Amino acid sequence: MKDLPTYTALVDSFRKLPGIGTRSAERMANAVLELRKEDALEFAEAIQNAKTKVHKCPNCGLYTEDDLCEVCKDDTRNHEICLVVVNPKDAIAFEAVSNFRGVYHVLGGLLSPAKGVGAEALNIDSLKLRIKEEGIKEIIVATSPTLEGETTALFLAKVLEPSGVSVSRLGYGLPAGSSLEYADPLTLSRALEGRRKL
Ligand SMILES: [Zn+2]
Repeated sequence: MKDLPTYTALVDSFRKLPGIGTRSAERMANAVLELRKEDALEFAEAIQNAKTKVHKCPNCGLYTEDDLCEVCKDDTRNHEICLVVVNPKDAIAFEAVSNFRGVYHVLGGLLSPAKGVGAEALNIDSLKLRIKEEGIKEIIVATSPTLEGETTALFLAKVLEPSGVSVSRLGYGLPAGSSLEYADPLTLSRALEGRRKL
């Protein structure tokens, strides 16, 4: 609508969210216009606060509002076993499983020659540093069982070999080609238990 530039701007903002097309963005913008004014302003403030207060843990890459995330700060967790995930969202999924009591490291992506993503784009150097400084003894690579996920896991096993850590990969329960994002807690839990050495 040409006479509603502010509405169009709101639709464009919602379209920036992953998986949201024009129709969904319009529905969301309409819903915002129908909200009570205080609720809409609270919504805007929540977005602003999230973007100013939440940041990535400098040690592992999980989200936090403190200097270090709650996992890195927790002495009751096993800091010798580290689950390497692609993004913070995957770590949140594993936390819901609750039987994992180790720590995390966020890779920040997957190796993909097709998309031009090389090793330098991933948080591998910081992982090597943590292995040395924190005495990590076991790495479990929790990438999805896709071509890029497998390639990344094998690459990690190769580059981490000199550091002497044991590197394993999530095991059975995850169908090939599937995304971790859609796995239920039981499947994640079994995949973790059934991990196999690389
Ligand atoms: Zn952390």
